[in-house]
Amino acid sequence: MGSKRQRKVRVDFRPNRQVRRRGDDWTRQYRAAEPRLDDSQRAESVRAKGDLSRKRTILVDEHDVPLVDEAAWRCGTVTKVHGLICTVRDAGAHPWECTVRRILRTRLIEARAPVVVGDRVWFSNQAAAYDGQPVGVIERVEERSTWLSRRAQRHREHAIVANAGQMLAVVSVAQPRLRPHLADRYIVAALKGGLRPILCFNKIDLLAAGLRTEDDSAERQSGLSVAGVIREFRDLGHTCVCTSAVTRTGLDELRAALQDQITVLAGQSGVGKSTLLNVLQPGLDLLTRPVSDATEKGRHTTTLAELLPLDFGGYVVDTPGIRAFDLWSVEPGELEAFFVEFVPYVPRCRFRDCTHRDEEGCAVLAAVAAGEISERRYYSYRKMFEEV
Ligand code: GDP
Ligand code: ZN
Repeated sequence: MGSKRQRKVRVDFRPNRQVRRRGDDWTRQYRAAEPRLDDSQRAESVRAKGDLSRKRTILVDEHDVPLVDEAAWRCGTVTKVHGLICTVRDAGAHPWECTVRRILRTRLIEARAPVVVGDRVWFSNQAAAYDGQPVGVIERVEERSTWLSRRAQRHREHAIVANAGQMLAVVSVAQPRLRPHLADRYIVAALKGGLRPILCFNKIDLLAAGLRTEDDSAERQSGLSVAGVIREFRDLGHTCVCTSAVTRTGLDELRAALQDQITVLAGQSGVGKSTLLNVLQPGLDLLTRPVSDATEKGRHTTTLAELLPLDFGGYVVDTPGIRAFDLWSVEPGELEAFFVEFVPYVPRCRFRDCTHRDEEGCAVLAAVAAGEISERRYYSYRKMFEEV
């Protein structure tokens, strides 16, 4: 906050009220006060108790006109980005239609990091200028904890969701038949993205008469029951939830897993993702709803991703772009780290750059031969290795 034309003053504390000021002043102040994107310092402080809580410090210009009144900013989560308009949900999950302050937008574009869903933002309340409508301007974007991207044109990354904490990978135990290799892939993709994988085995109601799994290496799968596969994932320490949207089995467990988290949904079509979410939260048929709000002008722009708010707290993200989210950014050499059961053996391989395929003195291969690592998982690794 180095500008000599500004100084700090103590003023009465008036929550959520703002003093009008000219945009130019704002811009100048903004540059001075915020040299870094992730600067989490606030320009004012509120004391918790006593007389002092009636005063706060704000920045003013040489004529004592308030410039930045950050106390009036609200914190929220971006749940939808459509053209230049973002929907931001505040702490009470109320939606606000926000634009991004121009100077901030320019800077974010330069940094190739435009606002995406999941971003935690601070926005100013502009309702007074819009007939009391919940309209705001995004003034600050918080640093992201995670960042999922997909491959865009010319191998460029294209961020689609920020701050997601976990991935719910939905597979069905029947119709379509369980493909454990797919579950392995979701786990790798989630871990690569810094997300906690949760496996949801849906259509458990169909799991009656000794159903078998299906995999590309079918002969290796024979004898491995669905229950055996689920047990295997549990033994690896991965969270597994067994659900049925029909008999409503496992829904409490699923709800608990999703609560207060930003969860990315993954899974082949037909496994029951939409059905499951709709029983979990009736009215969530937003999933396929076309986007058309009064405030949205760019009808032809594609909505990349949307955060769907859950009544019991948290959000789920479901877009085809993310459903396809896959292994493209995984390097062959880092694959071993995402197979958690390989990790203790890797340092014992004779060669430091062992790929665990046919090398002499490979500790992973030895562990497979000794039955300490499942053959199914090992062949899943091989298959992914050839692919990445
Ligand atoms: P999505 O493509 O993953 O969203 O899958 P859908 O939700 O559209 O479901 C695909 C089909 O599976 C629909 O016919 C659903 O009725 C059916 N389905 C979904 N969940 C279950 C379930 O738990 N048990 C059974 N038996 N069928 C289900
Ligand atoms: Zn090895």
